[in-house]
Amino acid sequence: MLRLSKFPFKTEKVAPKISDNKSTSLLLQAGFIRQTMAWVYTYTTLWLRVLRKIEKIVREEMDNYGAYETLMPALSPKELWDKTWRWDSIDVAFHVPAANNKEYSLNSTHEEVVTPLMKEFIQSYKDLPTCVYQIQNKFRNEKRAKSWILRWREFLMKDAYSFHSSDEDFVKYYEWMKKVYMRIFGRIWLWEDTVIALADGWTFTDKYSHEFQVKTEIGEDTIYICEKCDTAHNEEIIDPENFVCTNCGWTKAEVVKASEIWNIFPLETKFTKAFDVKYLDENGKQQTPIMGCYGIWVSRAMWIIAEKFAHENSIAWPESIAPADYYILVLGDNLEKAEQLAKKFESEWKEVILDDRMGKKFGFGAKMKDAELIWIPHIVVVSDKTIEKWGYELDGGLIEFK
Ligand SMILES: [Zn+2]
Repeated sequence: MLRLSKFPFKTEKVAPKISDNKSTSLLLQAGFIRQTMAWVYTYTTLWLRVLRKIEKIVREEMDNYGAYETLMPALSPKELWDKTWRWDSIDVAFHVPAANNKEYSLNSTHEEVVTPLMKEFIQSYKDLPTCVYQIQNKFRNEKRAKSWILRWREFLMKDAYSFHSSDEDFVKYYEWMKKVYMRIFGRIWLWEDTVIALADGWTFTDKYSHEFQVKTEIGEDTIYICEKCDTAHNEEIIDPENFVCTNCGWTKAEVVKASEIWNIFPLETKFTKAFDVKYLDENGKQQTPIMGCYGIWVSRAMWIIAEKFAHENSIAWPESIAPADYYILVLGDNLEKAEQLAKKFESEWKEVILDDRMGKKFGFGAKMKDAELIWIPHIVVVSDKTIEKWGYELDGGLIEFK
């Protein structure tokens, strides 16, 4: 259990003012984050717990779908990027000079690492389809890191790469992955506000890519949603003055602000050709596998959730990712009883924050204020009043000790 009496990351009385969003002030006030440099934050214990829970959900859904987790290095040698001509073509590439005149990339994406890796393991059509993923920090050498979650230089990402023997197989896989992603949104309560928008193919492909955009007032992207067929378009691929739906040709659209947290790219054979990946088909002929890539900006998703669920005095976390399940507020000389209760919850695999801070400063009001600021789904009170009735208060109702 996490005991607040010993916890270093204390709450503040007042929320500091942050110009462009509500959530950062509340996170600072709750002690979840501290700034390291402009728009770069250290995550303390409780914020890290939220991140780990989102990661866990992503991991479970990817594993369920039959993707295999790996951890590729954050650094990679220039030679790999020379093979795909991307050393100079990615404008935000982070290049690091190193000893012996070597140059490395702090990876913004991992095609140049995963493709030679899988080349060693893909030999036959029987090895396909296959998909590997990782949850890893990514780097972008932005000229100017901008406010809030926009254009950060370092972020945690889940990136998955799939390999296929035919276009049909890839399309099937790709469509299914969209459903896996929607399941993930559901579990972190972003389902209702997510639209799948067509976007630019970036350096990967001439076709459109798919971005999963969460509607939010302070989002960095503008999305045009066709009023007739609901097809969503990132502003970058349309003419905002004269909107024409790419799907149905309709010319009226709803315009919303949104933030991208997921994307899916068809990579075709761009990387497998560059690294000369070959497999033998059913007739013993050599073929080049087709690739797809599927990203989730895990840390960005967390910040968007914080902003979407931010209220006046707290961020009302979705229960699935809250920093704990129970907040036990102890008053008077009842610590022993509260600890017993915490242990009971823990034996049921629940996470507990025990507010065992004592002294004049920590009366019911002060403790309750923090319980609401940190926002744990269930608040328990153990006090003389509840002990008298041989019980504890759970979300306002009395429960008897068993
Ligand atoms: Zn349309």
